[in-house]
Amino acid sequence: MPIRVTVWGENVHEQKNKAVAENYPKGMHGQIASVLMEDKGIVATTATLQEPQHGMTEKRLDETDVLVWWGHAAHEQVDDAIVERVVQRVWQGMGLIVLHSGHFSKVFKRLMGSPCALHWREAGERERLWVVNPGHPIAKGLPRYFELENEEMYGEPFSVPEPLETIFVSWFQGGEVFRSGLTYRRGAGNIFYFRPGHETYPTYHDKTVGQVLRNAVNWAYNAERHPELLLAPNTPVDKAIETIVERGAKLTNHPKA
Ligand code: ZN
Repeated sequence: MPIRVTVWGENVHEQKNKAVAENYPKGMHGQIASVLMEDKGIVATTATLQEPQHGMTEKRLDETDVLVWWGHAAHEQVDDAIVERVVQRVWQGMGLIVLHSGHFSKVFKRLMGSPCALHWREAGERERLWVVNPGHPIAKGLPRYFELENEEMYGEPFSVPEPLETIFVSWFQGGEVFRSGLTYRRGAGNIFYFRPGHETYPTYHDKTVGQVLRNAVNWAYNAERHPELLLAPNTPVDKAIETIVERGAKLTNHPKA
């Protein structure tokens, strides 16, 4: 069974900005899906903000192993109920890859529980991404570093929680640095944040970026789902693994099973 990926695209700047439309005639989501499909073990489809329920129906999420999220201008237009639905799926084990300006998406901020802020500059600077964790599956087959000739600068401090692992650190021509590849686990869900991907530059046509995205899907994939992680059941005294005697004061009075 191939890994089923849904690439979620905001699909706003592609419609309004000539440079973005020229870089991404299929939409950014369409290009990202194409790049992922270069891995024969991945089947990637797309969903956009403009679709009913932003394309994130329960059925669609049932059929999604890994969700890729790109958003920028319209984070606030994403319905809170849909955000909650996506977050609950991640907690149960769906993989999530958050790209570039998705750092400020409601989904990512909710999962991180922190501001996820940074500072930035749009000046077409060179970005050099250093692989700081070469043994990690997301870094498989990559050189020591790779460069994107034109990118938006993101600078530290990036106000996210300390990650599980750091895969990339970026240097920018103007002198700033940024932790540009970070992993997290929330509930049973694997999460990867990857920084590059400003829409006015052809970043998702870059071969090394494509390799990172394919590696990240394979890393984030988990066939299992753990809905039990969302529940908080009581285990009564007579169901305890070892025999115990109830003692002391208590708040609850559960009926005997
Ligand atoms: Zn950007």
